[in-house]
Amino acid sequence: MCRHQVYLGPPASLAALLIDPPYGLHRQSWAPRDMRGGGTVNADGFGIGWYTPDGPVRYRRAAPIWADAGLAELGRATSAGAVLAAVRSATPGMPVTEAACAPFTDGRWLFSHNGVVSGWPGSVAGLAATLPVTDLLTLEAPTDSALLWAMVRHRLHRDADPGAVLAGVVADVLEAAPRSRLNLVLTDGERAWASAVGHSLSVLPGPGRLIVASEPFDDDPAWAPVPDRRLVVADRHAYTLEDLCGSTSS
Ligand code: GLN
Repeated sequence: MCRHQVYLGPPASLAALLIDPPYGLHRQSWAPRDMRGGGTVNADGFGIGWYTPDGPVRYRRAAPIWADAGLAELGRATSAGAVLAAVRSATPGMPVTEAACAPFTDGRWLFSHNGVVSGWPGSVAGLAATLPVTDLLTLEAPTDSALLWAMVRHRLHRDADPGAVLAGVVADVLEAAPRSRLNLVLTDGERAWASAVGHSLSVLPGPGRLIVASEPFDDDPAWAPVPDRRLVVADRHAYTLEDLCGSTSS
């Protein structure tokens, strides 16, 4: 099951955030410490999205993050005040392609999903049918994560509250596919929203910077685990936890 991480804070290098920490995303790709949802390695690609003054930029590859010879150099040379990155372990049956790797994007948004929609694709066919046909025709990949992003993106266009959008998508998908694992992360570069549904999630608050990650990237005692069925709402200074009340228990 994939691992993801969002950073909000003063400009930091991609290497400092993803490669250098002792249990950072780079290491989590081959030695994750908490794969409670199954799987062993996250070797089916990776993606990094970071914010520039012109908006988010993505670097994605379908290969394991450890096999990317140029990443260390790129990571040292590139700094940003907001970063969303993910390493992927493809759900069986789903394609291993760059387009299936998070983060997904639209405008200023970056999005990632760690988990699986149970009963895919039949369980959520009815929900998919509520989307505009063009959204379905332009899905980046035939995967559960890409459909979840299409649902989130569609609702972001009409709902002002991103937290309510994530909570609504989680509730609707759990109703249709109750055994789904839905750790979603969304950021606009200033704030972040992250759900914990079926997978591990932790927050590291720090002075003027905040990280939400599938698992702690070091042994700092300040890492706080997020209980299941909660939504983290964060900016670089603070975060709150909200119940995902609309969710049905599985
Ligand atoms: N189901 C998603 C995919 O295959 C996410 C996989 C995961 O979290 N391991 O892309």
